Amino acid sequence: MKDRPDVFELLINELSEIVIVLLDTEGRFISWNPGVQMQFGYTRDEFVGQHLRILFPAADRAAGAAEQELQQARATGRVSDTRWLVNRDGQQVFAEGLIVAIRDSAGTVVGFGKVIQNVTGRRVAEQDLERANERLKNMADELQRSNEDLEEFARIASHDLGAPIVSTRWLVDLLSTRHGSELDAEGQKCLKQIRLGLERMSDLVEAVLAHARAGKDAIRSAEPVPAENAFVAALENLRKDVETSGAVISHDRLPDLFIQPQPLTQLFQNLLSNAIKYRRADRPVQIRILVTRKGPMCQIGVIDNGIGIEKEWFERIFQPLQRCHGMDVPGSGIGLATCKKIVTRAGGRIWVDSVVGSGSTFYFTLPGPPFEPY
Ligand code: ADP
Repeated sequence: MKDRPDVFELLINELSEIVIVLLDTEGRFISWNPGVQMQFGYTRDEFVGQHLRILFPAADRAAGAAEQELQQARATGRVSDTRWLVNRDGQQVFAEGLIVAIRDSAGTVVGFGKVIQNVTGRRVAEQDLERANERLKNMADELQRSNEDLEEFARIASHDLGAPIVSTRWLVDLLSTRHGSELDAEGQKCLKQIRLGLERMSDLVEAVLAHARAGKDAIRSAEPVPAENAFVAALENLRKDVETSGAVISHDRLPDLFIQPQPLTQLFQNLLSNAIKYRRADRPVQIRILVTRKGPMCQIGVIDNGIGIEKEWFERIFQPLQRCHGMDVPGSGIGLATCKKIVTRAGGRIWVDSVVGSGSTFYFTLPGPPFEPY
């Protein structure tokens, strides 16, 4: 029994990362542990007899923060706080503290016990993290702004380019009907090339415009929208391509989805038009739309029997202007980037699986309403 207090004192002395002190009823230190020297730099002689307020920064001292803390501990029994304190050299220490009023058997306050833990390292790390987060947020905002500027620029530029293309087409038609007979074979060939060039230009401008719109217009819909309608609209827009290619298109029953009809039509249209465009010359085009439910998401696969895609292109083709089949097949190289933008903004994912020579399947997921068995 006799050596118990010594063991206890040894323990307190050992805990030099924690400050453990006793104060009298006035708030003056009457006992300490080596944690005081370790964390605040005071020797026992410098410390004992001083008032609690020496640990507080000048402004808090002037505001009577130490006295308030003592008064509150006296009234409520204990007070904990996390605040900036100062060490012997005036340097700031971020500390978590607890002060407890000590009472005798009659309930009279006979002093205070205080425990302080220096958490400056943690606080500095937190502040670094806050600053890094702030910097990251500013950069993201800046990126978002410049993306929006770029999209707005692309939208205006592609929109304004449309008019001169239309008038040039009209002039070429005029030239052909009025003066076509005066042109020799070389001249006729030139006219044909100009027409083709204008056609490509027009497709490209349209694709850039659609891409810019996909980043600007609302994509998600609060109410589920029938995908069937969007699919039918896409087929209608592609009627000529479907008819000339003789494509046979079959599909599962299409679900309702939380996406605006216009971007969904654009998505189907881009995927279906590619499935027709990248067909094999030696067999009829067959396209199948497969629907699978994946929890809250609907997965739709657009399966074709076309020329297929090399594995190394599976990711790249979703970036703008990445084309893996050369310039012989007309196209802008923007369609799949627009699909990705639409699907991602609507909360889904898009990817491809393909075997060269056999065909490709473009999968995308979109949020749908809770599953109801048909
Ligand atoms: P493009 O206007 O060139 O068709 P996309 O962005 O729609 O642009 O597609 C990018 C590239 O991905 C295409 O150039 C083509 O090489 C490839 N691709 C897209 N869809 C298919 C498909 N169904 N089968 C084979 N290749 C495809």
